[in-house]
Amino acid sequence: MTDFHAVKLSGIAHPANVTAMLHEICEHFVEHSDVVYNDGIATLKSTDWTIEIATTDDFLNIEIRSENDEALAATRTMFAEHLFYFAGEQPFSLEWSTPAPKVRPPGFFEATVVSAEDVTPRMRRVTLSLTDVSPFIGGNMHVRLLVPPRGRTPVWPNLEANGRIGWPEGEDELIVRVYTIRSVDLESNRVCIDFLQHPAEGVATPGADFARDTMAGEQVALMGPGGGGLPQADVIFFAGDESALPAIARMVEEAPPGVTMTALIEVENAGEEQPLRTQGRLHTEWLHRASYAADGANTLVGRVKAALENVGDDTFVWFAAEKSDVRAIKRSLADRKRDRKRQYVAWYWNKES
Ligand SMILES: Cc1cc2nc3c(=O)[nH]c(=O)nc-3n(C[C@H](O)[C@H](O)[C@H](O)COP(=O)(O)OP(=O)(O)OC[C@H]3O[C@@H](n4cnc5c(N)ncnc54)[C@H](O)[C@@H]3O)c2cc1C
Repeated sequence: MTDFHAVKLSGIAHPANVTAMLHEICEHFVEHSDVVYNDGIATLKSTDWTIEIATTDDFLNIEIRSENDEALAATRTMFAEHLFYFAGEQPFSLEWSTPAPKVRPPGFFEATVVSAEDVTPRMRRVTLSLTDVSPFIGGNMHVRLLVPPRGRTPVWPNLEANGRIGWPEGEDELIVRVYTIRSVDLESNRVCIDFLQHPAEGVATPGADFARDTMAGEQVALMGPGGGGLPQADVIFFAGDESALPAIARMVEEAPPGVTMTALIEVENAGEEQPLRTQGRLHTEWLHRASYAADGANTLVGRVKAALENVGDDTFVWFAAEKSDVRAIKRSLADRKRDRKRQYVAWYWNKES
């Protein structure tokens, strides 16, 4: 971890409840950074940034340090978005010593659709061409996909003075969904994203429909990458449903020889299984949702819980799926009092949305 973060920026946040927000910040960032709390001052430290938060009765005094201006701007936007998210519907304001300039958000990339094809009956792969795909190599692998309304010239987001992303509204509103960069081709400057097709009667599925309907030449944009990549561990237990399959497939592909992995993946049926390539040692088990027993036994959560009985403390546990499944697995891991740095547990979709 680098301790030398040369450039800095300060800000003042005014939440409805200072203590509650600081608690939420520390709780959330403990899975992404080293969090130290002492005498009303919280310090969050990651490889790329340090964020120090000192509290007064009404305010959070924030100082962000990073290695260069680009990383500083990206950290400010990331942190501002989190703070507004934590504030929810409560009144909240945020100001910086230097307001953010009205430019495209950090990590914004325009992209052109090259092709779309089925990988399996329910998984559709879209290939995108970018000017430069090098930011997508290694490290983080998730992006926000921005799809403008068909037939309109795209209007892309700019930063607001508080560091947040200002999204186009009304007729220019974008479809924004989170996906995983499944693969990156440095030579052709192309990336692929795999989209699960999950049609449901009477429910719009704009992200999935984009992949179903898109044609070569369509203009979209990506924001990122962020949100994690291959865990640094010798033994990894992966589990998840189809929304996590592109991430699991990419991570096992990127795992070096010597890494031992188990993957428990839930798909609709045998036709949705995909070959997983790796240089490491991988044992894969596919669960078929269509053949689950009516009593709900041995579904993804049950199987993961059972598997965790035999997972050692040194094993990195990676789990992503629907929100309530993720809550169940989080509880199970908390009961085991595992080191939270040795786990990634994230919900990728919400059946209540
Ligand atoms: C970090 C991250 C990475 C992700 N990577 C991928 C990826 O690579 N490929 C991928 O396909 N998805 C991925 N997802 C999940 C994807 O973002 C969601 O499934 C998203 O909701 C799809 O948007 P939509 O417009 O199709 O449906 P929405 O408009 O969000 O939802 C419409 C309806 O579909 C239901 N729904 C949404 N997702 C699913 C699902 N997966 N299965 C069944 N029903 C669903 C909702 O409950 C809702 O009823 C990822 C999510 C995260 C957070």
